Amino acid sequence: MKADSVSSVTKIRGPKMRLMIVIGVSIALATVALNACSPQRSILQQVLHNGKLVVLTRNAATTYYVGPQGPSGLEYELAKRFAAYLGVELDMKVKANLNDILDEIQNGDAQLAAAGLTVTEKRQRRVRFTVPYQQIKQQLVYNQQNRRPRSLADLVGGDLEVLANSSHAERLKELSSKVSDLKWTEDKDIGSTELLTLVAEQVVDYTIADSNEVTVNRLYHPSLQVAFDVSEKQNLAWAMPKGKDLSLYTAANDFINELKESGELNRIIRRHYSHLRNYDYAGTTHFISQVRQRLPRYHSIFEDTAERYDLDWRLLAATAYQESHWNPRAVSPTGVRGIMMLTRATAEYLGVLQRTNAEQSIDGGGRYLRKLIDKLPKHIKEPDRTWLALAAYNIGYGHVQDARMITALRGGNPDKWIEVKDNLPLLRKRKWYKQTRYGYARGKEPVRYVENIRSYYSILNWQMTNSQQYQQKPLLALNSDVL
Ligand code: GLU
Repeated sequence: MKADSVSSVTKIRGPKMRLMIVIGVSIALATVALNACSPQRSILQQVLHNGKLVVLTRNAATTYYVGPQGPSGLEYELAKRFAAYLGVELDMKVKANLNDILDEIQNGDAQLAAAGLTVTEKRQRRVRFTVPYQQIKQQLVYNQQNRRPRSLADLVGGDLEVLANSSHAERLKELSSKVSDLKWTEDKDIGSTELLTLVAEQVVDYTIADSNEVTVNRLYHPSLQVAFDVSEKQNLAWAMPKGKDLSLYTAANDFINELKESGELNRIIRRHYSHLRNYDYAGTTHFISQVRQRLPRYHSIFEDTAERYDLDWRLLAATAYQESHWNPRAVSPTGVRGIMMLTRATAEYLGVLQRTNAEQSIDGGGRYLRKLIDKLPKHIKEPDRTWLALAAYNIGYGHVQDARMITALRGGNPDKWIEVKDNLPLLRKRKWYKQTRYGYARGKEPVRYVENIRSYYSILNWQMTNSQQYQQKPLLALNSDVL
């Protein structure tokens, strides 16, 4: 989007210019000062001088994790952009628990924490929060194998565990005066993901987690269910020390406010969460069981094929699952066949002789996906290229181009999947499809198709990352032998 990239340049220039003036003035003052003390740098000047922004975080799918594509997560993305906005490198430091994060910030040992931190009154006495960037609710989570509690009173006698020093522990303290005998444990040593895993594994009966964390973790642990909300909407924000020096704080607020005003913050949040909106319990559970049962048979074919066509094997595997549930003999009523569900025409075009042969089908599907990715205009960046190419795999390249054209006509960005996906369903409406080259199409299907693949892909990524990360401490019942 042109307008956006122009404004992001101004975004970088604005504070930098101000900063240059500030630095210029400080240098001038220092030079003329009679006492020879070196001028004290502001926090922002120190960050610029060091060329590095150090950010404390915690390890979670909603904040920061190292996935197969390297560092990922919403907080990582926001912090990375903030570092770029300041023109410095980002250095994320992962802390083991919330208290370490809050202590370091309170003591001024670190300048910024981006860790999905909830703004609470109690914390505001310890640290300074930026303007919020997201809203969540606290939710009571239980395992669906157990009876659903209807209120906090139903938890009495059960094993309720929350993270020590969390907003959840604070909330429980507030509520406990209303529920007699409500008891809980506060755990210092684990993170939110591990605590949710303990509920999924039925080690712990109940926990409280932020709604965004529940949304993401249900994908990996379908047995996690929300019983009820425990709080109203709460704000998430970055935390900074409470000193007099507001230089970095002001820059961070400017940055977040500008992201909000340009609509970019909303797009980033949607990109991280919107494919999880149509969460399907049965579908996810089935996928996870097939990862253990069926994937091992095809794993090496996916890997070899992906390497040949410079694809991510997990993406290829996720696509194959969406197509056929990894069944090489799958047949659709329209005559589409095989593990990658190639049409007869596509198979002929790709030189696939036997569509029900898994190797041939995966090779054909991988080659076709690569062709589609390469066919899209060069300026479209990843991961949008891949999501658009997958939509084309499902509905045809021409229809995706039509939807991109409609997106542009309606003032959107045709290079962003998140925007094209809102316009694809318009291909079913006469008013829109009559203006297109390829006409009517069932435009909702590729949206669902791509969103499902994204979910399967995240599950595979997560299992990979966690099986490496937790080698010493296996926490995940669902880790498969092959991943
Ligand atoms: N938003 C929660 C808090 O600030 C997150 C706690 C967590 O999941 O680690 O306490």
